[in-house]
Amino acid sequence: MHRPLRLTLDRAALQHNWRWLAETAGTACGAAIKADGYGIGAREAMAALHEAGCRDFFVSNWAEAAELGDLPAGASLGVLHGVGPGDVEAALGSSARPVLNSGEQVGRWKEIAPGRPCDVMLDTGINRLGLRPDETGCLDELAIDTLMSHLACADEDHPLNATQLERFREVAAAVPATRYSLANSAGICLGRDYAFDLVRPGIAIYGGVPRREAEGHIRQVAHVEAQIVQRRTIRAGESCGYGATFVAEAETEAAILNIGYADGYLRGFSSNGSAFAGELALPVLGRVSMDLMAVRCDAAPDLKEGDWVEVDYDLPTASRQSGLSQYELLTTLGGRFERRWR
Ligand SMILES: *Cc1c(COP(=O)(O)O)cnc(C)c1O
Repeated sequence: MHRPLRLTLDRAALQHNWRWLAETAGTACGAAIKADGYGIGAREAMAALHEAGCRDFFVSNWAEAAELGDLPAGASLGVLHGVGPGDVEAALGSSARPVLNSGEQVGRWKEIAPGRPCDVMLDTGINRLGLRPDETGCLDELAIDTLMSHLACADEDHPLNATQLERFREVAAAVPATRYSLANSAGICLGRDYAFDLVRPGIAIYGGVPRREAEGHIRQVAHVEAQIVQRRTIRAGESCGYGATFVAEAETEAAILNIGYADGYLRGFSSNGSAFAGELALPVLGRVSMDLMAVRCDAAPDLKEGDWVEVDYDLPTASRQSGLSQYELLTTLGGRFERRWR
């Protein structure tokens, strides 16, 4: 079946971004591929990153781990939510390592899989998941592969970054593990002090620019294309779309595209987003609806029904336009796209 929307995924850009992150960190570089590889396809992302040299992958839960199937040669997988009461069977049947996050999880792992390798999350200030530095007494007898922590504010110049680094160093000196890991994408940009033995980028691999240090180095991975369902003329004084928020001052040519908020092109792009026909920018007119939106196409007289246009989905730009985070932009892309890797 022909799908009327396309998500074109640039494998070379994905690999380029990972390599830039690995070189910048100067240490082993893993990849977060949770939430179906931030919406673009976890299996395909894993295969492409493995080819580029990545060996350490992270998902959130055991269902995501199972969906990946067999791992490529030499690859390891960490499950960030650890082992809860409902995860015992899945964890024991998987080759993935749980990232243990609490005293409860540590106790559970010691009981069900004594001596089997695991990772441990330390909470150095985000107060999300992880053991507090004063709760690490329970970690003896564990075979810890990677002791990790997660930064709360690495995308900003925030004093908590240095505080978390300091706390992590203190615990790392006291708790034996094969490897230590702190930085996500933004953390890599903070400098090599934050890199330790392994970094765990996500968003920047997929085209997100987490901090200014990454500007000019990260390439767009996901390209959104939609089709024109109808071309029409809006007469002077008439409106377009729900709420009549766009009113034409003069006669205006509009292309109605087959994309809307059900596809993840959310209403924040109303009167703010744009599409491209080649080099020509086509600004969004009025509100984005569920399955449709209008763009101005006075500048493109030849555009017609059935033509494809690229919706501007460069993540930093689209984030400014819509008020959504770069993470939300990727993970909300809906199920109606034909996903094509090139
Ligand atoms: C999601 C996640 C990452 C990746 O973060 P980005 O900001 O996408 O680079 C790294 N570590 C942990 C624990 C995560 O949950």
